Amino acid sequence: NWAGAKPPLLRFLDRCHADFAAESGGAVADYIPELGKADPDHFGISLATIDGHVYEVGDTRIPFTIQSMSKPFVFALALDTLGAARVESAIGVEPSGDPFNSIRLNSENHPFNPMVNAGAIACSGLIHEAKGGGAFEYIRQALGRFAGRELDVDEAVYASESATGDRNRAIGYLLRNSDVIKDNVSEVLDVYFRQCSIQVTARDTAVMAATLANRGINPVTGEHVMTPYAISRTLSVMTSSGMYDFAGEWIYRVGIPAKSGVGGGILAALPARLGLGSYSPWLDKHGNSVRGVKVCEALSSHYDLHMLNRS
Ligand code: GLN
Repeated sequence: NWAGAKPPLLRFLDRCHADFAAESGGAVADYIPELGKADPDHFGISLATIDGHVYEVGDTRIPFTIQSMSKPFVFALALDTLGAARVESAIGVEPSGDPFNSIRLNSENHPFNPMVNAGAIACSGLIHEAKGGGAFEYIRQALGRFAGRELDVDEAVYASESATGDRNRAIGYLLRNSDVIKDNVSEVLDVYFRQCSIQVTARDTAVMAATLANRGINPVTGEHVMTPYAISRTLSVMTSSGMYDFAGEWIYRVGIPAKSGVGGGILAALPARLGLGSYSPWLDKHGNSVRGVKVCEALSSHYDLHMLNRS
């Protein structure tokens, strides 16, 4: 801007970055061995408004794997690709209160919701049902439209995840047993492992979140990425289940639909306002980024963004 002064929002994000860079509690995920190599000092915060401004502070261009932040986008894609009736007959929308990797299914032997691994694996199965061997490429391109650029896979994380993914395979076989997955389980799991290994940056995450906040129109590219139905239902399950067994606490305290990933990302989407993306690999016991949670709490309270406190 003409005066060379930083806009207040950027000054606020700078302060969050400086304050929370001092937080070093938590642990980098290492149950996928390759994730354990992440540099715990990396810390980036990006915020994209629905009029297309993108603010960035810190390590916003460092790639990391999307992991569970892929789940909302693949759920939205499944709704638009297979139709709501098919998707909603296979996957529930109730919070499970369980950790993300829980093997527990609901009373119909279906996943509780699309934000835990079981539900996300079911979504990958639905895309596989519709697109066969082209399923992963279809997902990669859709996620790229949310980000406004082509996204690639981190092959090392993919290999590591596939080599150690037996718990997710076990979930896949249970889902096939209850007919939620109709295809070959190892092909479906391959789609899931690859989708989790897509590389994004904090900036990409902010733009993807802003696209959710903007009823499915990417505010930077102007592209219509998903239908408003798919977006509003995706934001609904992010609200109730996006932060796993911290979801109730989260919506009470922060009040912004969000999704975390064990790669260290958090994406938060406040409808009709903004998308936030943060990256910091230290995770708390729920698998949520410690610094990312702090950033969202600070942003929500400083700007009074709780979604149930709007006029
Ligand atoms: N790929 C990871 C897994 O399936 C995703 C989990 C996550 O980010 N919470 O275990």
